Amino acid sequence: MQHPSPNKQLTGEGDIILTSLDELLQWAQSSSLWPLTFGLACCAIEMMGTYASHYDLDRIGVLPRNSPRQADVMIVSGTVTMKMAESVKRLYDQMPEPRYVISMGSCANCGGPYWQHGYHVLKGVDKIIPVDVYVPGCPPRPEALIGGISKLQEKIRERDAC
Ligand code: SF4
Repeated sequence: MQHPSPNKQLTGEGDIILTSLDELLQWAQSSSLWPLTFGLACCAIEMMGTYASHYDLDRIGVLPRNSPRQADVMIVSGTVTMKMAESVKRLYDQMPEPRYVISMGSCANCGGPYWQHGYHVLKGVDKIIPVDVYVPGCPPRPEALIGGISKLQEKIRERDAC
């Protein structure tokens, strides 16, 4: 079994691990992220490809959920239009804490190709909800999304115990 973090106190042959309950919970959550199932535009195609068998996000504990009540990660994959922004915010508000957001692709990060003349596009989803990890690209490849998920796992494991 992989131990929670390298600075934990190990005893004997390594079959007993001493840690705090908070750190154990952080390790458990980082190893079992449940993103909310939705996509907004072309970046969502790459996200779906990342879930599929070739990249297989299940193998690192990432399982999509259909209800915001069961999700702890929101992957914003695609263009956030002004009309969609309110729904994205409402879904985020319905997720239980602790909750996390990955902004996937240029549109979600800063408006992408619509940054200058896209009057109908929000110039970054971080204007309405807090973002933990930004994944660059138009669209980002599955490897980049997996890198973003790894970065989020790292952040959760390093988070100060509550
Ligand atoms: S960043 Fe590019 S690929 Fe992603 S939704 Fe915007 S235009 Fe489409």
